[in-house]
Amino acid sequence: MSSLLCGLIGTGIRASLTPSLHMTEGGRHGLDYEYRILDLAELELTVDDLPALFQRVRGEGYRGLNITHPCKRRVVELLDELSPDAARLGAVNTVLFEGDRATGYNTDWSGFRRSLDRGLPGARFGRVVQLGAGGAGAAVGYATLDRGARELTLVDADPGRAGELAATLGTHFPDRRVSVAAPDRLAQVLVRADGLVHATPMGMAEHPGMALPAELLRPDLWVAEVVYRPVETELVRTARAAGARALTGAGMAVHQAADAFEIFTGVVPDAERMAAQMDALLSREALAAK
Ligand code: NAD
Repeated sequence: MSSLLCGLIGTGIRASLTPSLHMTEGGRHGLDYEYRILDLAELELTVDDLPALFQRVRGEGYRGLNITHPCKRRVVELLDELSPDAARLGAVNTVLFEGDRATGYNTDWSGFRRSLDRGLPGARFGRVVQLGAGGAGAAVGYATLDRGARELTLVDADPGRAGELAATLGTHFPDRRVSVAAPDRLAQVLVRADGLVHATPMGMAEHPGMALPAELLRPDLWVAEVVYRPVETELVRTARAAGARALTGAGMAVHQAADAFEIFTGVVPDAERMAAQMDALLSREALAAK
């Protein structure tokens, strides 16, 4: 049995399901795998303490780290190398330590990309509207264009954020049309769209509700959600009730973990088995919340 130590750095992450996903899958592959939570708030640290924490875990023999809010951009300056996708996104959620080198990857985008393939086979990707242009929005916008969207319209309550992301994505996908629409034009752009990607925090337990009126959902519009706690968000439920195909955010969460697992261990995980575990964990959570 080989021994492996990895961890997750971020704020407010005590309830993360990622350690369980990694360690269970590791055990199934005969790995002695420990995955720790390094919560900045619990450690009474801020994002400014990230360089010191990073050096500390490096010295403690960690094989890899997952990085989440609010450190995904800040960590970039601490790395020796970036994967091409992480460099384009300017954000890292996975770090691999090899010898004295630290390499950054981004499996948020690849996780969402895999989730689209798995959950929306055969869907049309001509015109896609994306609500939310923050951290998750950057990764899923990139994935949606990589999946083949010809036109991507970004809508965000902060038009400056949407504009910046549109400019960045447009640079990486010069043969596509990436544009911005103000929130009051959502109905107009959505009526021509094949799909809606939702990447705002609306629908989370702390932000209940939906970021758009229910009447804009229709049977021939697919919906891909990023929020996954709860897994059945109001958007997913309302879209399905309207006859639309709706993908929950759980797929992105599982596949980002599966891709990171492969980077850390060099072992190809059974992503379907990890997805089944995630479903079970989220169902248990939903029952406990009732
Ligand atoms: P963020 O704060 O970086 O960005 C959110 C963006 O949404 C902001 O630009 C904000 O202006 C915009 N916004 C908020 N409410 C809006 C509204 N009603 N209409 C239009 N725009 C609105 O947050 P983030 O890191 O991008 O996270 C967004 C969500 O994605 C969170 O709920 C997070 O849990 C989820 N997430 C899921 C996964 C996954 O694996 N499934 C991964 C990362 C993040």
